[in-house]
Amino acid sequence: MTSSDWATKDFYQVLGVAKDASAADIKKAYRKLARANHPDSNPGDKAAEERFKAIAEAYDVVGDEQKRKQYDETRAMFVGGGFNGGFGGGGAGQPFDLNDLFGGGAGGAGSANLGDLFGGMFGSGGGGGPRTTRRTRARRGSDIETSTTISFSDALEGVTVSLRLASEQPCAVCHGTGAQPGSQPQMCPDCEGSGMRAASMGGAFTINETCPTCRGRGIYVSDPCQVCHGSGRALSDRAIQARIPAGVKDGQKIRLKGRGGRGEHGGPPGDLFVVVKVSPHPVFGRSGDDLTITVPISFDEAALGADIAVPVPVVGGTPGGSKVTVKVPPGTPNGRTFRVRGKGAPRKDGTRGSLLVTVEVHVPATLSSEARAAVEAYREATAGNELRGRLLEAGGAR
Ligand SMILES: [Zn+2]
Ligand SMILES: [Zn+2]
Repeated sequence: MTSSDWATKDFYQVLGVAKDASAADIKKAYRKLARANHPDSNPGDKAAEERFKAIAEAYDVVGDEQKRKQYDETRAMFVGGGFNGGFGGGGAGQPFDLNDLFGGGAGGAGSANLGDLFGGMFGSGGGGGPRTTRRTRARRGSDIETSTTISFSDALEGVTVSLRLASEQPCAVCHGTGAQPGSQPQMCPDCEGSGMRAASMGGAFTINETCPTCRGRGIYVSDPCQVCHGSGRALSDRAIQARIPAGVKDGQKIRLKGRGGRGEHGGPPGDLFVVVKVSPHPVFGRSGDDLTITVPISFDEAALGADIAVPVPVVGGTPGGSKVTVKVPPGTPNGRTFRVRGKGAPRKDGTRGSLLVTVEVHVPATLSSEARAAVEAYREATAGNELRGRLLEAGGAR
């Protein structure tokens, strides 16, 4: 079972019993609720299934004498999720009751001290003051960024990748409070427990920002939990499947809505951003939605013109060996680029970019005697065509 955030969960409320209910009453309440919400009796009812899980989780703790004691102490100590958390002691918005949280108010020296702090904070130190009711504030989960490397053809086709994410869960040792079990937290001195503080924006403008000292918790933990170092959070690995859309570019950031960190107190989850790295292809390059390829052609093809076969990337299940014919007109210079529309990378709207074919005139390193004779004949035929005449003139000009 995963660790739950004790500070924000009211297991007594889940079971519908008083905080001082006897073990027998708790057991009775649990059995009744578990029977009513059992998946076997409610096939396909997701809400009942969730309730059943919550009931089991609650009973796992308060149904066990040892764990119940620890839970009660944690709750009393942390005041239900911190000041910022809004005294979630009520969980679902019940009136917050200081006495309740401090074990009846009679308390030892430590509790009395804290009680004073809280009382002062809420202006109810006089005892007869108004009760403060706060609701637990829903908080959106954090955005998470990760990266993945996919192949060139997967980038064109789209692919589902498996990502391992380190996500935050309540710390299993302090149950999310951040305080060493058995220690007493104090009110944050920098925000006086509000979890927020005014930050100057220059001039007369101020904005409220999360208190950096307590990170919005409102509580200063003098004796931090040794496992989570006071953060109340623990990292755990989780694997998720993410769909990378067809046509993704190298370095592009894909946003997967709602796949980030979990929200708190019913807040929505954050987003997951995946930076996609695309491995280079041995033949094709990429320029925006266009794909590029450099194709060698012979001198005679460039001079006389030719239809040349050019490979086309396989997209959308087209079997391998796909190619197009590019018409190279007579007199094509080295480095000319031809555009083949619709054979590039897929776009969002379903269309595709172009394949840009750049020709490179190939000069043979060796010639057969026959070829040599032909080239020599060509030289004879073109004698007098001074290629560099103008260049030499211009170069010598003052
Ligand atoms: Zn901890
Ligand atoms: Zn603070």
